[in-house]
Amino acid sequence: MNETNLSKRLTLVAEQIPPGSKLADIGSDHAYLPCFALKHGLIQSAVAGEVNEGPFQSAVEQVRKLNYEDKIIVRKGDGLQVLSKGEVDVITIAGMGGPLISAILEQGKEKLSGVKRLILQPNVAANQIRDWLELNNWVLINEEIIEEDGVIYEVLTAAREGKIPYSKEKRNLELLLGPFLMKKRSPIFIKKWKNELSSWKKIVQQFEKAKQTSEVIDKKQQLLEKIKQVEEILQ
Ligand code: SAM
Repeated sequence: MNETNLSKRLTLVAEQIPPGSKLADIGSDHAYLPCFALKHGLIQSAVAGEVNEGPFQSAVEQVRKLNYEDKIIVRKGDGLQVLSKGEVDVITIAGMGGPLISAILEQGKEKLSGVKRLILQPNVAANQIRDWLELNNWVLINEEIIEEDGVIYEVLTAAREGKIPYSKEKRNLELLLGPFLMKKRSPIFIKKWKNELSSWKKIVQQFEKAKQTSEVIDKKQQLLEKIKQVEEILQ
């Protein structure tokens, strides 16, 4: 993979960037995403942020190799600390778990003032990002799901304004599964949740074998309820 031949996953992230953006790609690693976005005229400029020395050096090297130093600045630091207020209008954070992405946004809240769009690609626990967006007045405006090399990825895009995508009746389920993905019901979405259902069912079996404390009974009941709701959606 490189800035020309980007993974399907990062291409999907890049496709959500509005043309002409000033981008920050946090946890950029080789800086493939901002380099691809610049090469394809999607962005004016970018900050590539990295907390670890190895990936930071890879990003510096990649940007230098392409002579993009005047447009892409590589900075070393934790999360949004590498940014100053109002410096960028779009942030991408890809290839990390939902909890880490949410923590980066939470810890860097004051840097989000001029930011109009967040494009987030969690490897797991996308629901935690939906929760964070809701709590922090961001509106989820799009969701995509793909499979690459046997792994399923979701890409969540949020804006400052838009139609609230959650319904009163199914809100909790929509926060878990994704309101847009639930509507689209793509084969990959169905596959993802069928996989989840079978692992939840294994957990139920383990609960059944365990000592029946009130905690075990409660957890089993909650999981059975969740299984029932997700099965209804998949039918
Ligand atoms: N974004 C690239 C992608 O999607 O292919 C790289 C993903 S890689 C699995 C995660 C990267 O995030 C690593 O290079 C890691 O050093 C960086 N990272 C993890 N926590 C970070 C943080 N708090 N701030 C900045 N970078 C971070």
